[in-house]
Amino acid sequence: MAKIAVLAGDGIGPEIIAEGLKVLKAVAPQHGQDLEFTEALVGGAAYDATGHPLPPETLELVQNSDAIFFGAVGGPKYDVIPDPNMRPERGALLPLRKKLGLYANLRPCILYSALSSACPLRADLVEGGFDILVVRELTGGLYFGQPKSWEGDNAIDTCLYSREEITRILHVAFKAAQKRPNKRVVSVDKANVLETSRLWRDTATKVAAEYPDVELSHQLVDATAMDLVRRPQSFDVIVTENLFGDILSDEAAQLTGSLGMLPSASLGQGTFGLYEPSHGSAPDIAGTGKANPLATILSAALLLRYSLGAEAAALQIEKAVEIVLNAGHRTGDIAETPDTKIVTCTEMGDLVVAAL
Ligand code: NAD
Repeated sequence: MAKIAVLAGDGIGPEIIAEGLKVLKAVAPQHGQDLEFTEALVGGAAYDATGHPLPPETLELVQNSDAIFFGAVGGPKYDVIPDPNMRPERGALLPLRKKLGLYANLRPCILYSALSSACPLRADLVEGGFDILVVRELTGGLYFGQPKSWEGDNAIDTCLYSREEITRILHVAFKAAQKRPNKRVVSVDKANVLETSRLWRDTATKVAAEYPDVELSHQLVDATAMDLVRRPQSFDVIVTENLFGDILSDEAAQLTGSLGMLPSASLGQGTFGLYEPSHGSAPDIAGTGKANPLATILSAALLLRYSLGAEAAALQIEKAVEIVLNAGHRTGDIAETPDTKIVTCTEMGDLVVAAL
């Protein structure tokens, strides 16, 4: 039995997680997956109840689980907590990633053909949609390297990578590519200028030798930024370091039209992972039924794929989402026109279950 820690969090968190759970509970038995769900408090909800955004009970639960299914944390009420370390994101999400060694962030950026009008690019560039997986190194590079300081008129950040850190993220990218139809990895760096990038490129070439079925190419980050808006359909898997990944994953995400469609997985050693939508707690629409649960439902698919190895179950969810979109069902954030008929968060979850 796989143990799933369910941390719904704040704002729309509980609403979207409820729909994700509905889908997981419907699909898992069809694939022989026995899942045990245990809910715990996180973020502002945990702060209100216990005085800490990541209480010891929650930490203990996740450390004894196979995966975390996470909603979102934060909200205006908690932005004013005097101690910044007690605020939901800094006090719960970042420590979770760090304590659990989640060094790989996977963000599938898919433009469904049914939603192609949501893409800001010219229609002829994205006809038929695209499917890009951005794999970002999450715990190294410029964000964490020491020394790091600001004194007077001088400031320093250090970009530091070891071969080991680069190797492990590349394995994540190649393994993910092996599961995809096109099996292509673009390793993104700035090897014409940066020593860390030269080490990155050398390591990528060495790791690629272990994956003869996957095609590797190298690309400079500036060229990748251009190609994402010039020919997004040319990409399959993009793997890159922390800073470049931060920027490129947001650029790719924008091409898909709505935050409400973007799932994510953060993986560490082994099969453990944290799965969450890429958006926040959307306090402006919490409790109104307007939240789009598809990013969370697609995160459930990633949980099945990466933590439980249940590829067929993951594909079944992704296909169901596509069927629902092709049938024209829309939450407000992905509605094409003001006249589009809008479904609620719960109705969208029900539609996906029906399409399974
Ligand atoms: P947000 O992602 O919550 O919302 C941005 C806009 O997108 C809002 O208009 C919101 O209504 C809309 N939106 C987001 N998700 C949606 C969905 N599923 N369906 C329909 N519309 C959706 O970002 P924000 O407003 O900058 O942040 C709100 C709170 O969330 C803040 O407290 C922030 O710190 C927190 N936050 C948490 C996480 C996380 O938990 N991983 C990530 C980002 C922000």
